[in-house]
Amino acid sequence: MSASTLPAPLEWIARPLARLSTSHFNLRAGLISDCLISVVLIVAGVWYGNMRLLPASVTVLCGLFAFTFIEYAAHRWLFHGNTGPFEAGHTRHHLDPLGYDALPFFMPPLSMCALAALFALALPAGYALLLAGVIAAGYSAYGSSHVVIHAHRFKNPQMRRWAGFHNIHHYHPDANFGVTTGLWDVILGTRYHRQPGHNPGKA
Ligand SMILES: [Zn+2]
Ligand SMILES: [Zn+2]
Repeated sequence: MSASTLPAPLEWIARPLARLSTSHFNLRAGLISDCLISVVLIVAGVWYGNMRLLPASVTVLCGLFAFTFIEYAAHRWLFHGNTGPFEAGHTRHHLDPLGYDALPFFMPPLSMCALAALFALALPAGYALLLAGVIAAGYSAYGSSHVVIHAHRFKNPQMRRWAGFHNIHHYHPDANFGVTTGLWDVILGTRYHRQPGHNPGKA
């Protein structure tokens, strides 16, 4: 849904948000605030948690694993779903991979705080903060990786292969939804398989 089709009060909110989400300022502020909120949540968790090493290590591994699925699910079903502004912003990214389209910078950090509050309903506060902080760290790594993949040409063969996984997605939007890792594309069968005699870079 575009801002112009919304009821007037929502339009007053949607228009400035739409403008913000395509600005260079917002992209930079997002990369910084995503990193900051992950550090704040992890440090707060460790500081107040009085944690033991084993459950803390398990929490970190669970957070990293959860992040890989969140990255995949958000890209496949939110950004490539019928989701109005989320889909529209991501479509602009597909048309212009070097553009500034990104979520409003305050949205992911607020979501991570809400996630920490949700986890705290089931976990001790320290572990809840650590779990949300590790997911936030994954999100921060995703954001900066995505910018670097499009802005940088890697020389290292392994890094080229890693960046190529997402670049293929730009030619084949129904495949390779993972950005930092292709784990869930392998598990859920959406990993791109080259057709014989077909070069994805020339699609
Ligand atoms: Zn991209
Ligand atoms: Zn996409």
